[in-house]
Amino acid sequence: MAAASEPRGACYDAIVIGAGIQGSFAAYHLAKRGRDTLLLEQFLLPHARGSSHGQSRIIRSAYLQQHYARMMPESFRLWQRLEDRTGTRLYRRTGLLVLGAPGEPQFERWRRAAARPRGPAEELDAAARRRRFPGLGPGGDEAALWDGAGGVLHADRALRAVQELFRRSGGTLRDGEKVLGIEPGALLAVSTSAGVYRARRLVVAAGAWSSQLLAPLGLRLPLQPLRVHVCYWKEKVPGSYSAERPFPCFMAVGLPQAPHGVYGLPSCEYPGLVKVCYHHGSPTDPDQRDRPAPGDGRRDVALLCRFVGSYLPGLEPEPALLEPCLYTNTPDGDFILDRHPKHSNIIIGAGFSGHGFKLAPVVGKLLCELSLGEEPSYSTAPFSIGRFPGALRAAL
Ligand SMILES: Cc1cc2nc3c(=O)[nH]c(=O)nc-3n(C[C@H](O)[C@H](O)[C@H](O)COP(=O)(O)OP(=O)(O)OC[C@H]3O[C@@H](n4cnc5c(N)ncnc54)[C@H](O)[C@@H]3O)c2cc1C
Repeated sequence: MAAASEPRGACYDAIVIGAGIQGSFAAYHLAKRGRDTLLLEQFLLPHARGSSHGQSRIIRSAYLQQHYARMMPESFRLWQRLEDRTGTRLYRRTGLLVLGAPGEPQFERWRRAAARPRGPAEELDAAARRRRFPGLGPGGDEAALWDGAGGVLHADRALRAVQELFRRSGGTLRDGEKVLGIEPGALLAVSTSAGVYRARRLVVAAGAWSSQLLAPLGLRLPLQPLRVHVCYWKEKVPGSYSAERPFPCFMAVGLPQAPHGVYGLPSCEYPGLVKVCYHHGSPTDPDQRDRPAPGDGRRDVALLCRFVGSYLPGLEPEPALLEPCLYTNTPDGDFILDRHPKHSNIIIGAGFSGHGFKLAPVVGKLLCELSLGEEPSYSTAPFSIGRFPGALRAAL
C-alpha cells in the first residue's frame, strides 16, 4: 500500500513515528482531538517485520500489576468502540486460564491478584480444570484461575481498523518512509527518506527501533529487542482445540522448566494449527531478525516441545510452523510512556515487553494526552524513564 495521499504541507500539529499498534492508536487519538497529524512508517504496509503483525493476540482483564488491571476495563470499551465504528469484529471471547501449581510463589501472586475486585473471579482445582477443558491435561496437580473476559484480538484486522479510523479523522499516513533524524526544538524537524517535516510535537513509537532513533537525542533506554518464535502445533484430531470446542486462551506461570511462562490460544490463523509460545526469545538487532545465529532459539523450542507433550496431549509434540516476531523488553517488563527529559514536546512509547497489544487503545490515549500537555488519565509513574537513571545521564 502506498502513502495514503500527498502531504498537506510540511508542517503538522503532531508527527508520530511508527505505524505499529501503539503509534497508530496515538496518531488516531491526536487526529480525533482535531490535531493535524502525520504518521510515518518505514516499511510499506502491511508488513511483518515489527511486533504488531499476525492474526491473534490475547486480551485479558487478569493482570498481576494493578496499574495494568486498572486500564483494562477502558481498553475493552475502546476496542468495542473501534469494532462499532469500523464494522469489524476484533475481539472473540474465549475466556483465559492462568495455570500454575498451588504453593508456587508466582502462582500465589496471581491468586492474590485474583482476590482483587478486578481479578479473575473463579479458581478451578486440577480435577475441575480437567473436566471442563479436557484438552489441557493430564499435566500434574496444577490449579487454574479463570478470567471469563479473556479472549482473542484479531491483530491484523485491529491494526487496519485503527489506521482506517485515523485516516477518516483527517490524519495522513505515509508508509515506506523511514525517519532518519530528529532535530529537536519548539518546531521540531523530522527528516525521512523522502523529505523533511516540521511539527510542534512528536511521538516516538518505533518498537524495537526506538533506541536507534532516540540515542542521537541523548537518551539511552535499556530496551532489549528479542527475536521470538511464534510456534504453531498440529491438532491430532482437527477442531479439537478450536474456540467452538470450547478451548480457551491460557497462560502457564511459574513452571520451573519454563520460567518466563508459556501461553496459547485456540486455533485461529491456520486451520488445524494451534499457537503455543514461550514468552521469551533471544537478543537481536531488529534489522537482522531474519538472519538468526545458528541454533538461535533451539532451547526455547525444545522447552515448548516438552510442555506440549505433557500438557496438550491432543497436539503433535513438534511444531508444524515457526514464524519470527519481535519483543522489545525493559528490565522490569513495564512499558515506557514518558516525555523526553530535555525535550518536553517529544513523547516516547516503547518497551511493551510482549504484552502491549491489548492495552494499545489506552496507551495511545495516554501518549496523546502527554503530547498535548494534559494530565494523563492514569498515573504514568510506573512507566517513567526516571526509573532507569542511566538512561538520563546523557540526555540532561
Ligand atoms: C509473538 C508475539 C506475541 C504477542 N502476544 C501478545 C498478546 O497475546 N497480548 C498482548 O497484549 N501483546 C502481545 N504481544 C505484544 C504486542 O504485540 C506488542 O507489544 C505491540 O505490537 C508493540 O507495538 P509497537 O507499535 O510498539 O511496535 P511495532 O508493531 O514494532 O511498531 C513499531 C513500528 O515503528 C516502525 N519504525 C521503526 N523505526 C522507524 C523509523 N525510523 N521510521 C519510520 N518507522 C519506523 C516499525 O517499522 C514498526 O512498524 C505479542 C508480541 C509478539 C511479537
